[in-house]
Amino acid sequence: MNSNRPVPRASVMEIEAYVPGKSGAPGAVKVYKLSSNETPLGPSPKAIAAFREAAGSLELYPDGSAERLRAAIAARHGLDSARIVCGNGSDDVLHLVASAYLGEGDEGVFTEHGFLVYRIAILAAGATPVVVPEKNYTTDVDAILAAVTPRTKIVFVANPNNPTGTWLPASDVKRLHAGLPPHVILVLDGAYAEYVTHADYSNGLELASAHENVVVTHTFSKIYGLASLRLGWAYASPAICDAINRIRGPFNVNGAALEAGIAAVGDIAHVEASIAHNDRWRVWLETEIAKLGLEVTPSVGNFILMHFPDAPGRRAVDADAFLVKRGLVLRMVKAYGLPNALRMTVGAEEPNRLVVQALADFLSEKA
Ligand SMILES: *Cc1c(COP(=O)(O)O)cnc(C)c1O
Repeated sequence: MNSNRPVPRASVMEIEAYVPGKSGAPGAVKVYKLSSNETPLGPSPKAIAAFREAAGSLELYPDGSAERLRAAIAARHGLDSARIVCGNGSDDVLHLVASAYLGEGDEGVFTEHGFLVYRIAILAAGATPVVVPEKNYTTDVDAILAAVTPRTKIVFVANPNNPTGTWLPASDVKRLHAGLPPHVILVLDGAYAEYVTHADYSNGLELASAHENVVVTHTFSKIYGLASLRLGWAYASPAICDAINRIRGPFNVNGAALEAGIAAVGDIAHVEASIAHNDRWRVWLETEIAKLGLEVTPSVGNFILMHFPDAPGRRAVDADAFLVKRGLVLRMVKAYGLPNALRMTVGAEEPNRLVVQALADFLSEKA
């Protein structure tokens, strides 16, 4: 029977809207936002100049096929530009893959502490989310393979994962892919791939080149420092690109983002400086925070996950309140199944030092 008002599909109402990291700290003199994994180095100056230049033609529709940006990405990574699809952030791309391949009765798989957008994209497509346990805060390939059923259509894995910062070596990703039936898409979310320098890490692009059921996503929001412009891309088989291109918005990437993205991809020195900053300060933070007695999950991303004691006045919520008073805004990760942990973005030197000092004060304070 029809209701007397519009009613969304049931699975839409199962979605808990994504709550972004806080950006304010009421009362604090200066605010340091370390809650959304944004880069302390900002974007390449070349990207900023290209963005300004784009202001001269705002009345024109952007190139809906993102041809020059796809060519720039392809040149940088040695890829076939025909197998790249750009999106309004990689969130856009994740939603597009889900809505092209999932429907009612289908299942989308992701892990216990996986990125929240996967659940939202699966439910938005009308499908059923299947959550798989992790091991040591790390994706468990065998648990994923055990969860695959005839209804499974997509498996989402962020490598490295957010908010845990853990990663899978290339051999495990290969084993995961090899264990999936050929009609199941493996989405490898490489939002933090550029930060990983381990020899046995792979961003999955060669797997996506060689197989018809792998989608690799990348973003300009993290190491490229263009989160505000919303720009991401996927690398996939021609058939998957074709499906996504049929349903995406015809101008889903704006003109300023296209120009800034092209300039950013070309600035290799800026990316290298970001990696060097991150390597130095991530290790420093992990070491100093561990010295205070907190457990830190080893991370390869531009953020770290710290765990708090299960004691009154010492928990993550208490630490968060303490830090916010000093203008230090970290990320509560309860929604990721981590109620007693905080995620901190590796920031500039000043906030990094302030957080360590504040944690020391917090932990030595009388509860
Ligand atoms: C930040 C992040 C993204 C990027 O999202 P955009 O929409 O491109 O800004 C994607 N996946 C993960 C795991 C992330 O943490």
